[in-house]
Amino acid sequence: MERNGNPDYDIVIVGGGTAGMTAAIYAVRSGKTALMLEGAVYGGQIINTPDIENYPGLAFVSGFEFANSLYNQATGLGVEMKFERAAAVEEADGLKIVRTERNAYSCRAVILATGAKNRPLGLENEQALIGRGVSYCATCDGMFYRDKVVAVNGGGNTAIEDAAFLAGYCEKVYLIHRRRAFRAHEKEVERLKARENVEFILDSAVTALYSDPALQAIEVTNVRTGEKKKLEVAGLFIAIGQMPDNTAFAGLVELDGQGYSAAGEDCRTRTPGIFTAGDCRTKAVRQLTTAASDGAVAALAACEYIDRLE
Ligand code: NAP
Repeated sequence: MERNGNPDYDIVIVGGGTAGMTAAIYAVRSGKTALMLEGAVYGGQIINTPDIENYPGLAFVSGFEFANSLYNQATGLGVEMKFERAAAVEEADGLKIVRTERNAYSCRAVILATGAKNRPLGLENEQALIGRGVSYCATCDGMFYRDKVVAVNGGGNTAIEDAAFLAGYCEKVYLIHRRRAFRAHEKEVERLKARENVEFILDSAVTALYSDPALQAIEVTNVRTGEKKKLEVAGLFIAIGQMPDNTAFAGLVELDGQGYSAAGEDCRTRTPGIFTAGDCRTKAVRQLTTAASDGAVAALAACEYIDRLE
């Protein structure tokens, strides 16, 4: 790690989802060197979406194909990718230092594109039952529940997509949501309601998990009447939204009340040279298009910042 004026890279991008990979593409196309750090699998949350139908110019593409195509585009252009989880960002000798568990990389600008992770229900045994009936990813784990009865919890686009996906090969799918109104696109909700093997249970919450040792049943409580019922299910797919994972960077980046990195549409944080893009940023609309948009904005802002230093 060079610290006497010449950093390892111009820009280090933390997170290899849509925002991070778009930022990397824009950075290298602007003549900067870029390292992308990803702690798990490149692609981010979109790899779990079977069908993308709302990305402009692509009428239909799977999340996996989309992520793969982005990855090939970025690495083909010269973006360096390392599978290491960034643990901290520091400032030293006029440079930024991004520390992972094994290494430290110096750079002039950092783009935080850490995305968001699945929100748990917080029920007793929920974590212990992951892989034994509890899942946060229908496209990853759905095949284990072929011809079985499952439940999906949530009322957003993810829950509706997951339920539609599972209805394709499960015997029955319960869609449990705490309200009657949905955040999900109305067209998709109506399409799901028309499926014969899907039953909607609204104004209801999942309040307990029964296992022996794998999941056997769930308790569902009507939030208006308090009435409880037990549903026998082999799988529970929890799709109640995401939460950010920004705490490692809280020293340099202001976090909002929910832990998202506070930055406006220009993607600039309170620390010069540190930018934030995609689902980890405070914003109203979290979509593939807005993640890609943030990636471009953050990268161009980082390039401008570096050019001004020189
Ligand atoms: P989301 O839109 O935030 O929806 C989360 C759902 O879970 C809401 O219905 C919410 O209920 C419910 N919920 C939250 N906390 C809960 C709790 N503790 N107990 C029970 N229910 C709870 O999350 P998402 O569906 O994962 O989507 C995230 C973002 O990605 C959204 O912007 C979404 O539009 C986008 N997305 C888009 C697509 C697409 O366009 N094809 C696909 C997937 C995701 P309330 O409604 O009552 O708050």
